[in-house]
Amino acid sequence: METQTSVPAGKGKLDALADRHLGGRTNPVILALFAHPDDAEFLCAGTLAHLAGRGLKIHIATMTAGDCGSTTLSGATIAKIRRGEAGRAAKLIGARYFCLNERDLNIFYNRKTLAKVTELVRLTNPSIVFTHSPVDYMVDHETTSQLCQTACFGAMAPNFRTGNSRSAKPLRAVPHLYYTEPFGGRDIFGKEVQATLFVDISATLSRKAEMLSCHESQQDFLRAQQGISGLLDMMRAMADRAGKISYLTSAEGFRQHLGQGFPQEELLWFFLPDLVATIKT
Ligand SMILES: [Zn+2]
Repeated sequence: METQTSVPAGKGKLDALADRHLGGRTNPVILALFAHPDDAEFLCAGTLAHLAGRGLKIHIATMTAGDCGSTTLSGATIAKIRRGEAGRAAKLIGARYFCLNERDLNIFYNRKTLAKVTELVRLTNPSIVFTHSPVDYMVDHETTSQLCQTACFGAMAPNFRTGNSRSAKPLRAVPHLYYTEPFGGRDIFGKEVQATLFVDISATLSRKAEMLSCHESQQDFLRAQQGISGLLDMMRAMADRAGKISYLTSAEGFRQHLGQGFPQEELLWFFLPDLVATIKT
């Protein structure tokens, strides 16, 4: 295993990269699209806080409003509470929050949902999209990951129509797509899923904790449903684990989608050159 922490390309190459993928924008955009309220905070809020601090515009979106996140309140009531919590968390880093109004445990890969995700990608016009790992502990996360992959690929194809009467324009380029680590860093068989790129979040860990603390409604629910003692304890354990793997103190891990048709450059490294470590296995 080899760890690298220097910038992988010369300045000329980085300038060309900016021209090609940022389309001359002076304020590049990041879209973090996850299944449920609190997923983005657990999985990549430290990185989002760094990117926001460097002047990038951040959008956080969830497929659902978390309507199954309570054992005592109705779906409509808990969804309203969780929208508010997600909006407050996003605001802490100056981000805008969107909800795509799907239902918990009912996120399906179908034409209607794919059209909705594609509209969001076109509307926000991101340089980088963060989403769930293609393998994770629950199907809502995995389906969101698949929807995101196709939406990023199809967002620049003008013949891929969403059916929206006021459709957003097709993109000029496929965004850079990064998958976060699955919860617990493992697939459903307990096998470790190894991230290849890590962001040092030591300086943003407290902001990440503040964002996660906005999701007050989930403290009791996760204890009752999954035996999780506290959101912050779980988040710190995840950051410690990623830190150990990457030889950083606290980290968030990612894998970049490098399939055909997707950009291959390490754009996250371009934005955070002093904070990224890569692991070659
Ligand atoms: Zn989730």
